[in-house]
Amino acid sequence: MRTLLWFKQDLRLDDHPALQAGLSAERLLPLYVLDPAQLQIVEFGTRRLGVHRARFLLESLAALDGALRQRGSHLLVVQGAPEQVIPQLVEQLDLQQVLTLEEIAPEERAQVARVRRRLGSVPLHQAPGNSLLRADELPCPLEQLPQVFTQFRNLVEERLQVFQPRPAPSALPALPDGAEALLQGLPSLSQLGLGEPLSVAASAFPFSGGEAAAQARLRDYLWNSQAVRQYKDTRNGLIGSEYSSKFSPWLANGCLSARRTMAELRRHEAQYGRNDSTYWLWIELLWRDFFRWTLVRHGSALFKAGGLKATSGASQQLDQRYDEWCKGRTGMPLVDANMRELAATGFMSNRGRQIVASYLINDLQQDWRFGAAWFEEHLIDYDPASNWGNWAYLAGVGNDPRRNRVFNVLRQAREYDPDATYVSLWLPELRGVPQHLRHTPFLLSHLQLDALNYPRLEQIPDTWHSYMPHVA
Ligand SMILES: Cc1cc2nc3c(=O)[nH]c(=O)nc-3n(C[C@H](O)[C@H](O)[C@H](O)COP(=O)(O)OP(=O)(O)OC[C@H]3O[C@@H](n4cnc5c(N)ncnc54)[C@H](O)[C@@H]3O)c2cc1C
Repeated sequence: MRTLLWFKQDLRLDDHPALQAGLSAERLLPLYVLDPAQLQIVEFGTRRLGVHRARFLLESLAALDGALRQRGSHLLVVQGAPEQVIPQLVEQLDLQQVLTLEEIAPEERAQVARVRRRLGSVPLHQAPGNSLLRADELPCPLEQLPQVFTQFRNLVEERLQVFQPRPAPSALPALPDGAEALLQGLPSLSQLGLGEPLSVAASAFPFSGGEAAAQARLRDYLWNSQAVRQYKDTRNGLIGSEYSSKFSPWLANGCLSARRTMAELRRHEAQYGRNDSTYWLWIELLWRDFFRWTLVRHGSALFKAGGLKATSGASQQLDQRYDEWCKGRTGMPLVDANMRELAATGFMSNRGRQIVASYLINDLQQDWRFGAAWFEEHLIDYDPASNWGNWAYLAGVGNDPRRNRVFNVLRQAREYDPDATYVSLWLPELRGVPQHLRHTPFLLSHLQLDALNYPRLEQIPDTWHSYMPHVA
């Protein structure tokens, strides 16, 4: 069969069910469609694909094209709406079927449905997606999936999970006749209207997009440095590349398969033994799946203000405090440092994400969906299920038995950044402030703060008082 393989968030050749299904094709056209709609401003005032995400995506596409070329194929990248581009190519090149990844988010599913409709009699087949567990490996029917993570995890752990990812093929079918003439270079970030991000030496993610970089990190984290063996102790870190696995951007873009990651983790455990840290990494990967299956089950409810609980309790307020939060100018250094790191690099630690999200929701009382949308534009590991799932969870409208999780941000600062190293890294204007005051510059005089050009936090929560320094 002459087959079109539509790549989406599965930019790899390893453990790729749709690619495996296409190997027997007589001709195979690997395609990626860059949809300009992703660059438009949406209802939250943000765009889907910001500059860091786009950079990571372009790197991943370039790497995929390279890997395809080594196997006698090429990646065709076309800009446009998939529902137009794909049927047009199918007709022009006389293709007989389309293979792609199964989608889990409602808008992406609707898009696949539109493409399918436009294809008419040409079949579109979806292969299992990027989840760890396949639908038939779930411990119970989807509708009965527990709402609480611990119960989900207990059920999953009752069964033995064996992941047997299939390696990348060594050769691929040739392109269909006429396809070669359509190949063109990737657009640059400037051509996409995004500008070029500066490279930032302090980035916690100093890696590139693409499958080879993902595999190198997997090897390093599990086998060479074996940093995975300390994961549980380091995972709340804020600085540097080693405090956590950093797998997420590659998982989100599908440069790395979750099943490959788990198979390697099991192999590591078989050789060096399981410890609390290797176990914890499995639990975190299971969280990812928990949010994925929650999205499949609840669909668009996850993106509504009232979330899965359909409550009217969540704040729908939005004022200038949201803009200050986005810009990293709230006056609370730990929040501002994290938000500036995100804007400068496209990455933020898990601890940081929890802190800034809780601050926006609980302290600033803003609509959580705008925070989630800001993350969507900027995070290089943006993934609909994990992002909106975690936000809804923290806003008390997701799958959490507790109503909401309020973080005492000053307490977090004392615990996770005791020497103010992290805030000093991202807030240069505070470097001249005495170290014991760097988390609480609001205790300085108006005159001193103005000279620093750092905003004053006007309302200090009562719960912070026991974490304030004693000022002479
Ligand atoms: C408000 C908020 C928004 C988030 N948005 C995203 C997002 O868009 N994309 C994303 O991949 N993660 C998201 N996370 C989860 C988590 O912060 C990141 O997965 C993690 O920080 C990525 O770094 P890492 O790969 O080094 O993680 P590690 O700590 O090394 O964990 C290993 C892997 O486990 C998974 N994982 C870990 N924690 C979580 C979690 N809480 N939820 C789901 N999966 C998890 C990820 O795939 C991660 O790569 C969000 C968390 C919060 C609190």
